[in-house]
Amino acid sequence: MNPVVYLDNNATTRVDPAVFEAMRPFFVERYGNPSSMHAFGGSVAADLRRAREAVARLIGASPEEIVFTSGGTESNNTAVHAAIEAFPGRRHLVTSRVEHPAVKNVYERLARKGYRVTFVPVDGRGRLDRDVLLGQLGPDTALVSLMWANNETGVIFPIEEIAPLVRSRGILFHTDAVQAVGKIPVDVERAGVDFLSLSGHKIHGPKGVGVLYVRRGTSFAPLIVGGHQERGRRAGTENTAAIVGLGRAAELAREELASGAYDRVRLLRDRLEQGIRERIPNVLVNGDPAARLPNTLNVSFEYVEGEAILLMLNEHGICASSGSACTSGSLEPSHVLRAMGVPFTAAHGSIRFSLSRFTTDQEIDRVLEVLPPIIARLRELSPFWKKEAPACSREFQPV
Ligand SMILES: *Cc1c(COP(=O)(O)O)cnc(C)c1O
Repeated sequence: MNPVVYLDNNATTRVDPAVFEAMRPFFVERYGNPSSMHAFGGSVAADLRRAREAVARLIGASPEEIVFTSGGTESNNTAVHAAIEAFPGRRHLVTSRVEHPAVKNVYERLARKGYRVTFVPVDGRGRLDRDVLLGQLGPDTALVSLMWANNETGVIFPIEEIAPLVRSRGILFHTDAVQAVGKIPVDVERAGVDFLSLSGHKIHGPKGVGVLYVRRGTSFAPLIVGGHQERGRRAGTENTAAIVGLGRAAELAREELASGAYDRVRLLRDRLEQGIRERIPNVLVNGDPAARLPNTLNVSFEYVEGEAILLMLNEHGICASSGSACTSGSLEPSHVLRAMGVPFTAAHGSIRFSLSRFTTDQEIDRVLEVLPPIIARLRELSPFWKKEAPACSREFQPV
């Protein structure tokens, strides 16, 4: 039995064994270059084509609209770059305050280079006000980039509602769908986006591979230039094994979504949430309960430090995360929780549990057994914890 209780699936996921098997030949026998004239290499191009078709099917795209990249980060960088190049005269870019660093930091760099950048706020539940966003748009706006689902809280933005309104104003629309793909239905046609990013290692595929969807007819400029790979949209010899693995992961994601695997994940997540609320006082659940990924639970334990909780969970082999993996190591509370106005005392004690289709009932039981005494012990040590604090959990009230 695996001793590790892995509840950090928004950071990365286990490679599905079937994905690994699909990849193996491309490291061993079939190491050819798909651009080669000889059949040994050239035959690999057919495997890449199948992988491209599988990813396209997962998101409702055509295969020509799929560009393989090195991951979600590169896809996001490429989309922003392409939008800027498409409108050289426009100097305004819009996004939200709760984006992943792979969008946030791209925008911040552009702000330093002189672009006007708008970070649209969210409310206490992490929801975006559509009309506030639309009110920011003007003739100088080149791009709106909004994540489909938040990696820290799981909050889902109504992309299908917003994207058409943005595009009807002649502005390009990109969505970072890295956390949404595979967990909820994502269809580029229904959503009407110009660009969409996804990542292999968030859907039980390998690390270091991702996709940028580029709508047919959308003006495009590559970020990485060199050879003619990916029809000139992303140079560099294809990461064949990883692309084949991502293709297999996309097939499996589609099947698992259709067979209701994430309904089971949602039940497990809800049982974890309910169990925590029943066993531990002064708990706040972060993120809109009405529009949240089925696998994510972000919970604040008042008057304790998230890092301390993680260390103690780690001693029991339980993997979770505080804030986002990319901001851990700093003592600042996450920019996402700050944007939501989560009180300082609670934001510091926030833990993200993120489940997957490999999560078991036993793993949830284990957390519910181990966590309450950890919180009780840490609170005993906290100078801010009052013994007479109310012995019931409360919802976080949006400000
Ligand atoms: C993980 C993640 C990324 C980055 O993807 P990589 O493939 O790790 O570069 C981007 N956006 C979101 C929302 C993510 O969760």
